[in-house]
Amino acid sequence: MIGTVPNSADVVIVGGAAMGSSTAYHLLSDPAFTGRVVVIEKDPTYRLSASALSAASIRQQFSTRVNIAISLYGISFLRNIRDHFTVDGEAPDISLQEGGYLYCATSAGATILEENQKLQAEAGADIVLLDPAGLKECFPWLRVDDLAAGSFGRSGEGWFDGWGLLQAFRRKARALGAQYVTGEVVHLERDGSRISAVRLADGTRIACGALVNCAGSGGAHLADLAGVPIPVAPKRRYVFTFTCRERIANFPMLIDVSGVYVRSEGEGFICGVSPATEADPDWHDDDPASQEVDHSLFEEIIWPALAHRIPAFEAIRPGRAWAGPYDMCLFDHNAIVGPTAVPNFYLCNGFSGHGLQQSPAVGRGLAELVVHGRYRTLDLTDLGYERLLENRPLLERNVI
Ligand SMILES: Cc1cc2nc3c(=O)[nH]c(=O)nc-3n(C[C@H](O)[C@H](O)[C@H](O)COP(=O)(O)OP(=O)(O)OC[C@H]3O[C@@H](n4cnc5c(N)ncnc54)[C@H](O)[C@@H]3O)c2cc1C
Repeated sequence: MIGTVPNSADVVIVGGAAMGSSTAYHLLSDPAFTGRVVVIEKDPTYRLSASALSAASIRQQFSTRVNIAISLYGISFLRNIRDHFTVDGEAPDISLQEGGYLYCATSAGATILEENQKLQAEAGADIVLLDPAGLKECFPWLRVDDLAAGSFGRSGEGWFDGWGLLQAFRRKARALGAQYVTGEVVHLERDGSRISAVRLADGTRIACGALVNCAGSGGAHLADLAGVPIPVAPKRRYVFTFTCRERIANFPMLIDVSGVYVRSEGEGFICGVSPATEADPDWHDDDPASQEVDHSLFEEIIWPALAHRIPAFEAIRPGRAWAGPYDMCLFDHNAIVGPTAVPNFYLCNGFSGHGLQQSPAVGRGLAELVVHGRYRTLDLTDLGYERLLENRPLLERNVI
């Protein structure tokens, strides 16, 4: 337990990983906010949190305006991280590397790639289209004979230290006065339509002015407790590492036509793929078996696809692998963010594999909603709960 447990707070945030800590940081950075923030985190080691297990990459290559705008803000935030997070003269290093994303397409996918690139460029993202000859020129190690096009982020896309970002948010939020409490929220108390307090597993009661759901893979359960069901399920996703005998310079985050992704990481590479829908098991925090790595995915799908696309990858040495929870929005693969019919309950859930890069913009947006009752910088209304009630999916075509 960090400090004495308070019995009330103006804002209680459930989940203290990237989203929860970003929201706390943004609340306490707003001069108009003078309240008390309590962040409740059931496991301060973050062992099973998506934020600690992610591939920690950022892209502008989305197919929806709101996601592109979120990531444009995300990259500027990451580039200027020292300005945001210096505490006692110490600045975090999140090792941002703008290596770019390279999306590959066959003739069947080329039109969608072109439409997406047009939208991304209009929004201000530095994405260019390449034909097979252009691809070969930029990436000589790439097999292009079955490709019709590629789109590449010349800047503003890449990867970073996700654990470092989570810790930087958390450290700064605490320095600004956020109180982190170790405990699991298991019950919500009501006062009319509002939520008046949270109860922890050990019986502790903390009264709340506002309640923000940043519980990641526990988010759907918390939303159920609040009476606001959300179509979000934690899905198991794996990250595999390997090294390659041949050195390949300037390797981007490559998204193959097979759906397999691969990027460089230190001296080696990391990669993964989303399993087929019919073989896509749920993740459960309390069931170690649901967290085991399915190595057949690497052997049977990932490696063959990689060796096809990058012939140098025929000779690789597999390394360690891990599993993590994707809080997948089954409705449209986009996050559900903002107010609900319960007047003081806010959602921040269903990030479907792109939440780490969205944590700066979404945490800022939620803080604006709580303090000012509206978005003041970037309008995140498109991600709101209303779209579910109105059956209006905001389909994201670029889901990894
Ligand atoms: C393998 C993998 C690769 C990914 N790659 C990328 C990527 O390249 N780029 C990207 O942007 N995103 C990526 N993501 C997604 C990203 O990691 C998540 O969207 C993001 O970290 C979500 O942050 P969060 O704070 O909402 O959730 P989490 O990090 O999961 O944190 C939720 C926290 O809530 C706590 N909690 C849950 N229930 C309760 C409760 N009842 N009481 C108290 N505490 C509770 C948990 O202990 C946890 O610490 C990836 C995810 C995975 C798994």
